[in-house]
Amino acid sequence: MPPAGKDERLTERVLEGDRRALARAISLVEDDDPRGWSLVRELYPHTGKARMIGLTGAPGAGKSTLVGALTKLERERDNTVGVLSIDPSSPFTHGALLGDRIRLTEHFLDPGVFIRSMANRGALGGLSEAALQAALLMDASGRDLVLLETVGVGQAEVDIIDHADTVVLVLMPGSGDSIQALKAGVMEIPDVIVVNKADHPMTETMVREVRSVLALGPRDGWMPPIVKTQAVHGIGIDELIEKLDEHQAFIEAEGTLAERRRRNLRSEVLSIATGRMRRELEEAIEADPAFGDLLDQVVSRKLDPASAATEILGRRQG
Ligand code: GDP
Repeated sequence: MPPAGKDERLTERVLEGDRRALARAISLVEDDDPRGWSLVRELYPHTGKARMIGLTGAPGAGKSTLVGALTKLERERDNTVGVLSIDPSSPFTHGALLGDRIRLTEHFLDPGVFIRSMANRGALGGLSEAALQAALLMDASGRDLVLLETVGVGQAEVDIIDHADTVVLVLMPGSGDSIQALKAGVMEIPDVIVVNKADHPMTETMVREVRSVLALGPRDGWMPPIVKTQAVHGIGIDELIEKLDEHQAFIEAEGTLAERRRRNLRSEVLSIATGRMRRELEEAIEADPAFGDLLDQVVSRKLDPASAATEILGRRQG
C-alpha cells in the first residue's frame, strides 16, 4: 500500500496536468487498483478533448522514431503530447521497453511531453482495457495530442488502436507482412499509410504495392494518403502532420468523428462487460463441484463441449 496521503487530490492534480499525478494514476489503472477505476470515473467528464492518433505496424518499421519526430514537430506547434507505447509481446511493464524509450530521450525533460509504456498484464482486465484507461487519463490531464503506438498488425487482443481518431499504418520497404494483412482483410484499411525508411531502394515498389491494395478498397469518402518518410532524419514529417490534420478536418466535417467515437466506446463498454462476465463465470465454475463432473464427462467423450456449456449456462440462469 502507498503511504497515506500519497493519493491526496490526485483527481485535481491530474486535471491540472501534473505529470507525477498522471504517472501515479496510470499505475493504479495498470495494477487494476479500484482507486484507478474510480479516478477514471471522476475524470471521464473531462475527456474527449485530446486528439488521439494511433500508429501501428510491424516491429522495426520505425514507429518509435516516427513518434519522436512527430512529438518534436507538435511541440514546435505548441501542442502538449502524451505518448502511450503498447507492446503486447513484451513481458516487461512500467516503462521497461528501453529500445523505444531511448528514441524519445530528448523529450524526457520537457514538461509538455508525457511518455508511458505498457506491456502485458496478468489475467485481470486486459492490456487494451488498461491502455484505454491510461489514454483517457492523458486526455483528462489536458494533453492536446495522444499518440498511441502499438506493435503488430491484426493483433486482436490489442484493439486500443480502434480508439484512435486517426489510424496510421507504418510500413517499411522490403517487408510484406503488413501488406499481406491488409490484402487478407486481417487489418482494417488505415486512415494514413506511412512508408518509412524512404531512403531504402525498394521504397517505390512498396508504394506501388500499397496503391494496388488500396485500389481494391471502397472508393467513396476518405482515400488514405501514402506518405513517404525518413523518420530517423526528420524527413517527410511535415507532410505526415499535414495529412493527419486533413484527416481530422475530414472526419470532423463529415460527422464521422462523433460516429467513430460512439462505435469505439460501444465496443469498449461491451468488452469490459464481457470480461467481467467471463471472470464471474470462471469464478462460479471453479466453486461448483458439479463442473468437475461435467468436465469428466466431456473428457470421457460422453458429453460434447457445447452441450456442457449449455448445461452450465442453463444452471446459472435457472
Ligand atoms: P519500431 O519497432 O517500429 O518502433 O521501430 P524503431 O523506431 O525502433 O526503428 C527501428 C530501426 O529503424 C531503428 O534502428 C531506427 O533508427 C531505424 N529507422 C527509423 N527510421 C528510419 C529511416 O527513415 N531510415 C532508416 N534507414 N532507418 C530508420
